[in-house]
Amino acid sequence: MKIVTLTVLSTLLALAGCATVPPPPPAGLAIDRTLSARGQSDRVKYIIVHYTVSDLPRSIKILTTQDVSAHYLVTDADQPTVYSLVDESRQSNHAGYSNWKIYNQLNAASIGIEIVNPGYKDTPQGRAWYPFKPAQIDQLVLLLKDIVKRHNIRPENILGHNEIAPQRKLDPGPLFPWKRLADEGLITWPEPSRVAARLPGYQQQLPDVFWFQRTLAQIGYAVPQTGVFDTATRNVLAVFQTKYRPTLFDGTMDAETAALLDVLTSPLPVLPAAPVAAPAGVETAPVE
Ligand SMILES: [Zn+2]
Repeated sequence: MKIVTLTVLSTLLALAGCATVPPPPPAGLAIDRTLSARGQSDRVKYIIVHYTVSDLPRSIKILTTQDVSAHYLVTDADQPTVYSLVDESRQSNHAGYSNWKIYNQLNAASIGIEIVNPGYKDTPQGRAWYPFKPAQIDQLVLLLKDIVKRHNIRPENILGHNEIAPQRKLDPGPLFPWKRLADEGLITWPEPSRVAARLPGYQQQLPDVFWFQRTLAQIGYAVPQTGVFDTATRNVLAVFQTKYRPTLFDGTMDAETAALLDVLTSPLPVLPAAPVAAPAGVETAPVE
């Protein structure tokens, strides 16, 4: 009889979409789960994209047997496999020392996705980057859409590893198709007509170093606020260009980069919504 009751209960929980059933408390401890706090949020606020700089066997070996890890690994087979290596409820070690807006150590607040890709090789003709396979990006787009939906990730919170660690990382590199992600509705993209409209002004007069540093920081990059065009500032500018203008990412302050930054940091005005009165009877009490 008891077995039947438990079976019915587990079926009901499954039908209710209950993903995890808490284990029963130890004997002597009574936990009442009938209440729930409003003030809580999802651990996952960011998705960070990487390339592995290794072939598949080595990528699997490193990501499953060493300290470094990722939640997902997208292979480079003709029909890529997407491996889940770490449960999304848990932290993986993919970001390292990292900064974005108020966050540092992004591992705690993100899902990391590694894509099998060798990165680049330096040749006498210059640095050559390895392209991603279209099938890899197709799988990545499906994976991103699924994660975004389940965790309600904001478009500006899908980032490359180089964006959160601009002084030491280059991945996912200039051949990663951020524009495709924008076309899929996954990330924000500077509207080309607005960029074109602002370009002449910046061609006439380029903003000073402090303006570039301030707008880069406004987007989220960790960048000095000194007014001095130093190596750290150049590196961050190059990372920004790698994403939004991958045809030229030398880290130089130029008019087109200024126009791109301007458009990304000045969103179109949204018509104000009618004020909504607070529901009757709702009180807020200070909590320390
Ligand atoms: Zn990386």
